[in-house]
Amino acid sequence: MMRRSKILATSFDYQGAYPCPVCRVGKITRMPLMEAMACDFCQEIFTVNLEQQQLKMPSRQPPLIWRWNGFSWTEAQLEGVELGWGYGLAAIAFIFLPTTLIGIVAYNFPPTPHEFITWLPYIWTILTFLLHLAIILWICIEVYQIPIAAYLRAINRWRNG
Ligand SMILES: [Zn+2]
Repeated sequence: MMRRSKILATSFDYQGAYPCPVCRVGKITRMPLMEAMACDFCQEIFTVNLEQQQLKMPSRQPPLIWRWNGFSWTEAQLEGVELGWGYGLAAIAFIFLPTTLIGIVAYNFPPTPHEFITWLPYIWTILTFLLHLAIILWICIEVYQIPIAAYLRAINRWRNG
């Protein structure tokens, strides 16, 4: 098993084409005469560290880094920053804590039974949830520079045949 996976593993070099870690749609290949690679889909440019099998996206600060494990890219890392599970936990708390609090308040203090007012706490709870979810999504998009514009362009191309 170990042997088999070793044979199938490929190393990261300038000759190959690799999946783009940003858009996960395009392929990255070497740019002519440069120590860099570019994606044919989202046009993102990466600098290369062959010794460490690393790809770096310098267009943002701090740069995002991926490491080639022989088969695919590892999770994106901010250079010099460890994004551990603590951040994920904080994000989940940020989404669910206010929603739960407002939900509890809405449940424990039911308003007078007026048709519109009765629904207000539920709408409020849902809005709180959506707003906090949107903030977390926005932070993820900002941090990982997800190329939404490139996806939209691709959807347009696909629609127009
Ligand atoms: Zn790409």
